[in-house]
Amino acid sequence: MLTIKNLVKRFGDNEVLKDITMDVGQGEVIAIIGPSGSGKSTLLRCINYLEEPDSGYINLEELSIDTTRANKKDIDRLTRKSSMVFQHYNLFKNKTVLENVTEGLIVTRKMKKKEAVEKARGILEKVGLLAQLKQYPATLSGGQQQRVGIARALAMDTPLLLFDEPTSALDPELVKGVLDIIKSITELNQTMIIVTHEMNFAKEVSDKVIFMEDGYIVEEGPPKEVFDHPKHRRTAQFIHQFD
Ligand code: ADP
Ligand code: MG
Repeated sequence: MLTIKNLVKRFGDNEVLKDITMDVGQGEVIAIIGPSGSGKSTLLRCINYLEEPDSGYINLEELSIDTTRANKKDIDRLTRKSSMVFQHYNLFKNKTVLENVTEGLIVTRKMKKKEAVEKARGILEKVGLLAQLKQYPATLSGGQQQRVGIARALAMDTPLLLFDEPTSALDPELVKGVLDIIKSITELNQTMIIVTHEMNFAKEVSDKVIFMEDGYIVEEGPPKEVFDHPKHRRTAQFIHQFD
């Protein structure tokens, strides 16, 4: 359902994504691993145009975008097809938990407030935050804030969900609760790309692992192969750091 071809992204002279080509099937869960600075976040951000690629193609469902000549209408369609869960949650600090989730539904999806609230409540219940609806993000634990971030992404009902190191900012004791919620989403035939340093989690939930380094995809394959029998020395070195 997603095909990326020859994607290139530069920041000034720094070529951060160098010819990225990848395929994601409907319902697949992709884990992206790799060292800091290898371009993982930039790749996710290009997929929903939080960053504009310099060149390459992004095909998502029926949309085909040549990023060198994309028009506003296509970009708009593309951005509506994915939602992102950020490392640092990126919640609206001056909005309540409930408002954080309804905002996109009301503003972007033009949903009536009553309907948006109903929908948001249902999703917040699933992530265990019904008791915190009226609280502001600052009053929540990191784990609770990230669950709001997940609820907000889920509420948009996008064909693709993007997770950028969703547990990296959390205190260790809060990681498992958030991973469990993400894991429960993987069981819903939802297409997901998850950037993570949680190797056991990646191994457990993903259909395919992609190892990135220095703006390239070095290796990709089923988790058992990439983790247990990496083809490249750099993949093996990277993975062994987590042993
Ligand atoms: P990762 O997520 O794998 O750690 P990133 O995609 O965040 O890597 O960053 C890859 C490279 O791009 C890094 O060298 C980083 O400094 C650079 N970079 C990322 N975002 C920007 C930006 N907005 N402006 C300039 N350089 C950036
Ligand atoms: Mg990153």
